[in-house]
Amino acid sequence: MTISPRIDGRDVEVAEGTTILEAARSVGIEIPTLCWDERLTPQGSCRICMVGIEGLEGCVPACTTPVADGMVVYSDDPHAMETARSVLELTLSNLPERALDIPAESSQLIRTLHHFKIDESRFSGSRLGLGKDHSHPYVKLDRDLCIACTRCVRICDEVQGTFALTMVERGSDTVVDLGTGSSWAESECVSCGACVDSCPSGALSEPGLLDTRPIERTTTTTCGYCGVGCTLDVHTRDSEIATVTPNRTAPVNRGHACVKGRFAHGFVRSADRLDRPLIRRQGELVETSWDEAIGFIAQKLKSIKETYGAEAIAAISSARCTNEENYLMQKLMRVAIGNNNIDNCSRICHAPSAAGLTASLGFAGGTNAFDDIDSADCFLLAGSNPTEAHPVVGARIKQQVIKGAGLVVVDPRQIEMADYADIYLRCRPGTNVAVFNGMAQSLIDNDLIDEKFVRNRSDGYEELRELLREYTPERVEEISGVAASDLRRAAQIYGEAEHASIVYGLGVTEHAHGTDGVRTLTNLAILTGNVGTSSGGGINPLRGQSNVQGASDVGALPDLLPAYQRVTDDGAAERFEQAWGVEILRAPGLRIPEMFNAAVEGKLKALYVIGEDIAQTDPDTDHVRAAIEACDLVVVQEIFPSRTAEMADVVLPAASFFEKDGTFVNFDRRFQRVRPALAPPGEAKTDFEIIALLADALGHDLGCPTPKDAIDELATLCPDFAGISHDRLDREGPLHWPCASVDDPGEATLHLDRFRTANGKAKLFAKPYLPPGEEPDSEYPFVLVTGRRLEHYNAGTMTRRTDNLELMPAELVEINPRDAQSLGTGDGDSVEISSRRGSVTLRVRTTERVAPGELFASFHFPEAPINVLTSDSVDEVTGCPEYKVTAVQVRAS
Ligand code: SF4
Repeated sequence: MTISPRIDGRDVEVAEGTTILEAARSVGIEIPTLCWDERLTPQGSCRICMVGIEGLEGCVPACTTPVADGMVVYSDDPHAMETARSVLELTLSNLPERALDIPAESSQLIRTLHHFKIDESRFSGSRLGLGKDHSHPYVKLDRDLCIACTRCVRICDEVQGTFALTMVERGSDTVVDLGTGSSWAESECVSCGACVDSCPSGALSEPGLLDTRPIERTTTTTCGYCGVGCTLDVHTRDSEIATVTPNRTAPVNRGHACVKGRFAHGFVRSADRLDRPLIRRQGELVETSWDEAIGFIAQKLKSIKETYGAEAIAAISSARCTNEENYLMQKLMRVAIGNNNIDNCSRICHAPSAAGLTASLGFAGGTNAFDDIDSADCFLLAGSNPTEAHPVVGARIKQQVIKGAGLVVVDPRQIEMADYADIYLRCRPGTNVAVFNGMAQSLIDNDLIDEKFVRNRSDGYEELRELLREYTPERVEEISGVAASDLRRAAQIYGEAEHASIVYGLGVTEHAHGTDGVRTLTNLAILTGNVGTSSGGGINPLRGQSNVQGASDVGALPDLLPAYQRVTDDGAAERFEQAWGVEILRAPGLRIPEMFNAAVEGKLKALYVIGEDIAQTDPDTDHVRAAIEACDLVVVQEIFPSRTAEMADVVLPAASFFEKDGTFVNFDRRFQRVRPALAPPGEAKTDFEIIALLADALGHDLGCPTPKDAIDELATLCPDFAGISHDRLDREGPLHWPCASVDDPGEATLHLDRFRTANGKAKLFAKPYLPPGEEPDSEYPFVLVTGRRLEHYNAGTMTRRTDNLELMPAELVEINPRDAQSLGTGDGDSVEISSRRGSVTLRVRTTERVAPGELFASFHFPEAPINVLTSDSVDEVTGCPEYKVTAVQVRAS
């Protein structure tokens, strides 16, 4: 219901329940605040936002008082102003003079001071001496500046959900401190920076803001780390990044970020950024000009094509590049080289999601918008560790669980969210399909399926039911190690929820039967009618890289043209042929693992790699290195001298995401703008510019001179992207795809009327459990699971060149304490881990979070080349490697 109060003589129309503060701000009337933050529950404690109300004696806080119809409010009520002023003066009299040194742009307190025209000479400096804590690389505390507004404590609790902070002491000595009583560096803080962003006084700050020179420019862009796609404001001065803050109005992250997006920007000015092209001469990479580098590559590619045919050339495009760059690269391969040998790293992470979701629901993307987390009453979190790998999503799910939503966690490793779960299913690595089938069987057995939905909107139920007879909870317990009673309970929690949401990650996909994992997980959503219906349900894969969704969406795939149109589909291929003026091969090209095999077999002669460190991140590293060595030409476009770049014939210096113009697509299918905040260093160029230069040298005009033109061309060729353009994104903000026209707001929730399969129905898949590609035995008795750490990202190329290295300086292998004891090793000791392919030595961290017989490590550090160990087993449908199950042996060294 709409109500009409009057504020400062202006009639305002707002919804019932709106506070005076919100109503005033909706018409541009500024009421100062200190303890209020739009991301937090208002508490009305600072008494700065006091206002007068006609007919009411005294004054009230605007942030907690709802407006009423006909209410007349005065923000400049003399009594209210005087109350606020005296509270403010009392607060200020407790602060040291250096509180005034902070520029107004970084201090809400100073701005409030100006608003009330407070005489600054009243500062007494009476609170000197509480001390600073500068132990943390990013979060800097000056206790003397704390005004005890509790915003930092509340944002850590209410938004981040880490509960790391508390207030200590009493009265005027009340001050923020760590809940653990330790230094900031040793506390539970996860370095999201929310406390710094919220602090109104400068008591909490960061290195770039301790420097009080004014910010010159703010550029709004999209984070280049994980696939959540947080909108960030990049604040620069003197062509350097001073600070990066989460954008407060962003629809995805709503003013929140994580340690990577918020703080890990120092790499952009790292001394070893590549800033000139390099070419190999007498075995050494030496600097050269762009003309020579591009000319050499073009001449070599032409000669390889003439001698061995176009199929001897392949390219790996990048999930860290923009849509425009990926679009241009796949076009270059299809137009200038003449094959479909183009792939991207979704091959080694979420290709099974694309295949599984397409098979089950007819569409390769997650089904629901991120916002639906707020209306979910249950989460099934499978093979995903969101509080580390996708922290903004993890924090939001955690908040919803704290508010009462159910939570089922399926993961071999006891991740943080398992601590919040109603039921935690610790399955053996590689047994997902059995667990999901067991849950499906329990849903059926206990009448927890939505029969009407299954009957009207799905196919395959009878076949599935027949197969599931074999998946009694007791049999699933034998396969997976999950207790039958726990499995039944998990099915009950998920099945009884009204709006149950499935969120999953690489723990489902990176298996020899990863696509089956996705299909059998999707079965649960279909059986319970939790997909293609109201908000709060659905099935959403969390994407690892900033643009892994977009790189596939725009066609950097060997079998699919932009918008998932098959190269084998004559109608689709002909549309592109007409637009591009070339013939498109109807045969799919090589997938990434096939490229390596072909190179080793001598069939692939040239490999072009953009922004991927395949020599560190891809499985069975020795095989990958052999493939690189076997090629006559290896070209790498990179921002740093990566392991792969060190092996290349030509290295082309590229721009980072802070230096690019374009778009990313995040995990919930939103096109979002990427904008340059800095110029690339030295002679480095954007990947878009480099690809265009190469096309030119190969004698082809790709027809898209700018990133904006590339998106416009994409929109004309793909009905699903028809409504997307840079202009519209700049005007309206992020847009979900499918987006059929310039008036279409985009489909936030998919499949509401029909699924995108041929008959409009979802497909239930009867898929049996099959063992993983590699299983432990007497020689290799442990199972190694790989994954991510909060502080680092992928190959660590960017994060290891920031102060995140202080937060996590090296990789450690996690071992269960019982195993450590029987191996005669312990925390900090070195162990040699060997698989059938190689050995690495790592230091030990003992933890109950890994089960006995299992190990966990990431591949963020080149000194800990974990992928030397991982196997060449791949998902049978997509070729995605089985990173999550490697049989290894461990020796104390
Ligand atoms: Fe957001 Fe992911 Fe970037 Fe963190 S890494 S700020 S969660 S997009």
